[in-house]
Amino acid sequence: MSNQTPRVRFAPSPTGHLHVGGARAAIFNWLFARHLNGAFLLRIEDTDRERSKPEYLQSILAALEWLGLASDEPPVIQSERLDEHKRLMQKLIDEGKAYKCYCSVQELESAKEQEIETGSVLKYPGTCRPENMGRKKELAGPDCSSKPEGGDECIEGYAIRFKLPFSSGPISWDDLVHGTITVDADQLDDFIIARSDGTPMYNFVVVADDAYMNISHIIRGEEHISNTPKQILLYQALGFAMPRFAHIPLILGPSGKKLSKRDNAVAVIDYQKEGYLPEALFNYLVRLGWSHGDQELFTRQELISLFALSDVNKKGAIFDLVKLNWVNSQYMHAADNAALYAELIKYVDSDLLQKAPLFKEPQLIELIGLYKKRCHTLKEIRDEIVNLNEPGTPSPAELQPFQTPETIALLEQFVARVESEPRQWPVVELTTLGKKLVASMNTKFPNLAQPIRIALTGKTAAPGVFELFNAIGTQESLKRIKQCIEHLSRTIE
Ligand code: GLU
Repeated sequence: MSNQTPRVRFAPSPTGHLHVGGARAAIFNWLFARHLNGAFLLRIEDTDRERSKPEYLQSILAALEWLGLASDEPPVIQSERLDEHKRLMQKLIDEGKAYKCYCSVQELESAKEQEIETGSVLKYPGTCRPENMGRKKELAGPDCSSKPEGGDECIEGYAIRFKLPFSSGPISWDDLVHGTITVDADQLDDFIIARSDGTPMYNFVVVADDAYMNISHIIRGEEHISNTPKQILLYQALGFAMPRFAHIPLILGPSGKKLSKRDNAVAVIDYQKEGYLPEALFNYLVRLGWSHGDQELFTRQELISLFALSDVNKKGAIFDLVKLNWVNSQYMHAADNAALYAELIKYVDSDLLQKAPLFKEPQLIELIGLYKKRCHTLKEIRDEIVNLNEPGTPSPAELQPFQTPETIALLEQFVARVESEPRQWPVVELTTLGKKLVASMNTKFPNLAQPIRIALTGKTAAPGVFELFNAIGTQESLKRIKQCIEHLSRTIE
């Protein structure tokens, strides 16, 4: 199989939103496929009818699209293949490789209790194996339609168990991330491949569907390592070509345990709503578990040409929000302001125009351009803009250094000069004017710029004052500076 063009898949279960760990698995699959000119496919694992929800499916598909991870073929919907799963299961039964199990939950629990008492592993005791079936048929009847005599309760229908081959020996595979992994077959038992209500189990359907989709490489989270030996046995029993396996390490929280909601947001859409850019999250997630020297920022094309599973780390990687913020700010910095505006309106706050009515779209785009150099996310920019629409009052301590007759005079002259020529002053001219004024009054530039900054934003830290002056608009800016002069004059006495 490995000589063919690779075919990989991402197989989410629509039982929740797309998790960052799932997104990273999808990204690794996608990069692997793109690097080798292979196919990246999608399979929706929706056989858990109770927990699968259409809204989660929509949310997962939207998150994948946002990250630019399109499937090369129409997605395979697992629940639509139930008949085929049943057919394959019957084939295993017919060939003596699987069997019907009539054991009731109570029976299994008492067997487990016995095993606990004797200190052995909790494995199915093989009660319904074909060679032990005399007793069971008697109890349950062939179709389990009647309650059996003799005390034992028959569960409705029957579960189907895979019959562990006697000759399985140690099960090994050459994992493309971890190297050779060997599992002692003694650790396995005759595992269930279909529940008594007829629903096939994960390990069975995943093999049936991966083979159907001709998947050559299975790249998935490390939490599935324990499933792989069972799947290998199923591949052998069903006579399917064996794919290669690669298990990627977990994403960890700061405590070193698997990343959980307690540590950070875990859903991709939460990052989208916070105003992380898809390319930035993509870049960050790739670096979380894969490296190419010390390089941190990559174009997608670079990632496609550089990505190799052999460079995926074996150890889990800690999710570092500070670093993600840095990566995002780098991407915002380089992005087009209008594109950032579109992203902000679409995902972070569609009501921005209503919440900051002072500004029209072109001004918002200009303000984004000013704030993107200082913020980590579009949400932070959005908050700055809403504040700018109606700034809070600065604290007395922040204003205190400017409560001097000199500052007031300086601000008054600035206002008078600008008002004397009612036009849009370019930033350079405002700067020249400011410099001239401070020189004529024998003071320093910050003594003019800082009170203007406070007047315009209510804050002591903000982008360049004259850029802001123009983005806010001459009229509004002058109004705010005049209010500040008034406030300073009132509080000086
Ligand atoms: N639906 C499984 C999951 O979400 C897929 C596992 C696999 O890739 O085999 O974990």
